[in-house]
Amino acid sequence: MSFADVTLVCRDCGKEFVFTAGEQEFFSQKGFLHDPVRCPACRRARKQAPDRGRQERRDHDNPTSPPPHQRGGFPAVCSACGKPTTVPFAPRDDRPVYCDACFQAIRQSRGDHPPAPAGSRHTRYR
Ligand SMILES: [Zn+2]
Ligand SMILES: [Zn+2]
Repeated sequence: MSFADVTLVCRDCGKEFVFTAGEQEFFSQKGFLHDPVRCPACRRARKQAPDRGRQERRDHDNPTSPPPHQRGGFPAVCSACGKPTTVPFAPRDDRPVYCDACFQAIRQSRGDHPPAPAGSRHTRYR
C-alpha cells in the first residue's frame, strides 16, 4: 500500500492542511479508518482543552455569525423587521439599516449572491 500527500480542509478552522504520506502510514498502522478532519493546530488545541469540543460543535450548528454584541459595532434598528441589531458602520439617517437575516434576504433577492444548493457545504461533514 502506498501513500501520497493529500490536502484536506480543517473542519474547525476551514484552513487547508496536508495529510502527509507519513501521517497516513501512521494512521493505517494505528488502525484509524478515517482521515483526520482537523489541522494539526486544531487537533493540538482540542487535546489541550477537551471541553471546547462541545462548544465548537454547537458553533458548527450555527456557522453563519456570532451574536452581534461579540462583533462590536453600532447599535441600530433593522429597517425591515424592526429588530435591534448591530452594524459595523455608523448608521445614517438616509440609509436603511438591516439586521443580518434581512440583509441576507435582500442581497439574495437581488441576485447578487445566488444561494448555494441546500446543504452542499455540509455533505462532507457526515
Ligand atoms: Zn484547523
Ligand atoms: Zn431585520
